Parts: sequence; structure tokens; C-alpha cells
Amino acid sequence: MEVFRKLLMDRREALVRESASAPGREQWLVQKIDEALLRFDDGTYGTCEACGVAIDERRLMARPVATHCIDCKTEADTLEGRRRAF
Ligand SMILES: [Zn+2]
Repeated sequence: MEVFRKLLMDRREALVRESASAPGREQWLVQKIDEALLRFDDGTYGTCEACGVAIDERRLMARPVATHCIDCKTEADTLEGRRRAF
């Protein structure tokens, strides 16, 4: 899972750098990354918030801020207002 923490931190850094020229634009995504990093701290990263199963690593690679497994994805997309993080 450490590879995903690195991935998230790299993306966060890039976003913060990009948003320096357009403040606020990427703020919601930086916040999602912060939330994902917090899930590393409490040990829930990579676990579906809805059903508790481990999220497929290929899914995390494509979307490191994913909080739901593919089966629960439809519901998660609705909660996020259908915005795609990456
Ligand atoms: Zn699930």
C-alpha cells in the first residue's frame, strides 16, 4: 500500500504547485487526497467504506482517492456528484 501513499503525495504536491497560479481551483481534489492520506494513518486506506472489502489495487492505481470498491462505485459516484478525481 505504500506505493499508493507515495502516489497520493506526489499528486498532492503537483496539484498544490498548479493551483498556485489559480487558487482554489484544485482545492477539492487536494482535500480528497488529504482524506485518503488520513485513511493511511487509521489503517482503512484501500478498504471499501460501504461494504468493507479490499479495493482492487488496479482500481487504486487508476484512482488513488477511491473510497469504494467497484461494486459500490455507482453509489460513490453519486455521492461525489459524478466528479472524477483523476
Ligand atoms: Zn464495496
